[in-house]
Amino acid sequence: MAKCDEGYHCEVCAKYVESITDSDLYLRYIIGEISGHQLMTAPERHILCNPTLAQFIVDPEFAAPVVDGPFAKAELDPDDVRKREELVTRGWERLQTVRSLGIPISEYPLAAMNAGNQ
Ligand SMILES: [Zn+2]
Repeated sequence: MAKCDEGYHCEVCAKYVESITDSDLYLRYIIGEISGHQLMTAPERHILCNPTLAQFIVDPEFAAPVVDGPFAKAELDPDDVRKREELVTRGWERLQTVRSLGIPISEYPLAAMNAGNQ
């Protein structure tokens, strides 16, 4: 069984990540970038403490950071940006709801959702 106690310190700002809705780790797990094992072992971060990912969240409820430099959206291929925005935004929106769904963590990822009845 996965440990259910929330709360790890962010490796960037060292503050507590109080909710999985702020968790960069869970967001990346949901969009399929890390495995369930990495979810349990990788260092936690706030979504906003990982701006190169957070910049792709396009939602009125989320104030996405603006990134400068080679990883800025403006530097990337517009088609890739669109696909990335769609994926990361869907992942973020799912992240806001998974806790209330009462599903096992293994069913959090978008891919697991798509495998079921969509
Ligand atoms: Zn942080």
